[in-house]
Amino acid sequence: MSPAPTLAVVGAGPAGLSAALAAALRGVRVTLLDSAAQAGGQFYRQPAEALGARHPKALHHQWRTWERLRDGLAQQVSAGRVQHMTERHVWFVERVGEAPDGRDPGNPDGRGPGGSDRRRFAVHALLGPEQEDSVAVYADAVVLATGGYEKVLPFPGWTLPGVLTAGGAQAMLKGGLVLPGRTAVVAGTGPLLMPVAAGLAAAGAEVAALVEAAGAGDFAGRSAALAAHPGKLAEGAGYVAQLLRRRVPLVVRHVVVEAHGKDSVEAVTIAALDPAGRVRPGTERRVACDTLAVGHGMLPHTDLAEGLGCRVDGVNVAVDAEQRTDVPGVWAAGETTGIGGAALSLAEGHIAGRSAAARLRGAVPDPRTWAAAAKSRTRGRKFAAALAAVYVPPAHWAEQLRDDTLVCRCEEVPASAVREAVEELGATDARSVKLLTRAGMGWCQGRMCSAAVAGLAGCEERSARRPFARPVPLGVLAQDPGEQSPS
Ligand SMILES: Cc1cc2nc3c(=O)[nH]c(=O)nc-3n(C[C@H](O)[C@H](O)[C@H](O)COP(=O)(O)OP(=O)(O)OC[C@H]3O[C@@H](n4cnc5c(N)ncnc54)[C@H](O)[C@@H]3O)c2cc1C
Repeated sequence: MSPAPTLAVVGAGPAGLSAALAAALRGVRVTLLDSAAQAGGQFYRQPAEALGARHPKALHHQWRTWERLRDGLAQQVSAGRVQHMTERHVWFVERVGEAPDGRDPGNPDGRGPGGSDRRRFAVHALLGPEQEDSVAVYADAVVLATGGYEKVLPFPGWTLPGVLTAGGAQAMLKGGLVLPGRTAVVAGTGPLLMPVAAGLAAAGAEVAALVEAAGAGDFAGRSAALAAHPGKLAEGAGYVAQLLRRRVPLVVRHVVVEAHGKDSVEAVTIAALDPAGRVRPGTERRVACDTLAVGHGMLPHTDLAEGLGCRVDGVNVAVDAEQRTDVPGVWAAGETTGIGGAALSLAEGHIAGRSAAARLRGAVPDPRTWAAAAKSRTRGRKFAAALAAVYVPPAHWAEQLRDDTLVCRCEEVPASAVREAVEELGATDARSVKLLTRAGMGWCQGRMCSAAVAGLAGCEERSARRPFARPVPLGVLAQDPGEQSPS
């Protein structure tokens, strides 16, 4: 009997967990890797065990789904079908050869007989938290389920201590059980702002205002797509009710134009937007706070997929109806293929896991077996598209940047330098701006400033094409991959 095929799943959020379970239940040996100390991803982020949280459920929605994933993982781990590797920061995935059984006949579409995707991949991961040593995990196929990260748009005062991303504030609360401050303003745009404000208020912070750039009019014409998700609408209505009960002012069609403070944030100025997305002069007012949690949506993590040569459409990893990328043996699921929420990630992960399990055995999967997940995926994508059209950063946000406002905080590049690169030196894309100003060359490799640079340069947001998904020590790069410890 041939040994069970192996699958490496990168990311243990809703998509990765769902993929790992679907594949393991169908006879595949799965290695699940994640940089976090516990499974759950962003949506089901768990408090550190040492904190001994008595009611972690209080910070979550859809807890039953989490229990099903958590218990399913525990069962598969104890049955030896899944190996769960925590604190593994995957920096590169590469194809290292053909399948041991030689099933790679060079079909025009690159797939083996019966559509088999049996190949050999090495997944390189830095060991956390130090991230100085690298290990390699080998598998016949890979599912990339690395989720997304928050889009950051600068404004005067955004680098002051006390200003953090909305997701960062939530991560402190869910993962560390701490509040980022006593009095918070939650601002920006997007569906994440409501759970963040509600979570902070429930945990005892005074939420001085929830400032949302979108307004009621932005929902016009999208009611059908939104109504198809009554559960999500009810969740949203629940947050609004919680915020009203706690007397949190909900300020719509407004933005934060500046954060003020000497050593840390002490207040913010908010202002109303006109229909074109410009600040209305004379509407500015100050709101005192010691924390500003600000979010403008999210962007998918595409680095690992791009390192493998997968096609990326705009900012999303491109996949087919089975969640396969255009690189044989590589699937992608969840927010790496487009921002869309936990339910969509679950559906995509399930389909990816089932497809991989079938293809790794040389079978062509029958999509009818995952019809329910496919239906949920279709609804989820429509819902996500409707939300993406509603929650758009104000068109003229870049006009608020003063010349001395930092755009790239790693390399300390001010807006004036980016403007000069665009207006005087003729840069028309983020790469030229980077070469002329160093914006995007620092530690975060443009994860923080790429959206801002694109906005200032007036060019489309594109994936950044970074060679590695994490900063890698030179010693690790100098090592012969064969010398890296196997996992
Ligand atoms: C900060 C933040 C807060 C959010 N809060 C909410 C919320 O309150 N409500 C809501 O409805 N939605 C929220 N979302 C969106 C929601 O989390 C997602 O819809 C859902 O979690 C997506 O699932 P996923 O499995 O695709 O990705 P994720 O849940 O993001 O999981 C991806 C996993 O991959 C891991 N990973 C990424 N890169 C690597 C790497 N190179 N090596 C190893 N591991 C890696 C991450 O550690 C993570 O565990 C939030 C998103 C973010 C980013």
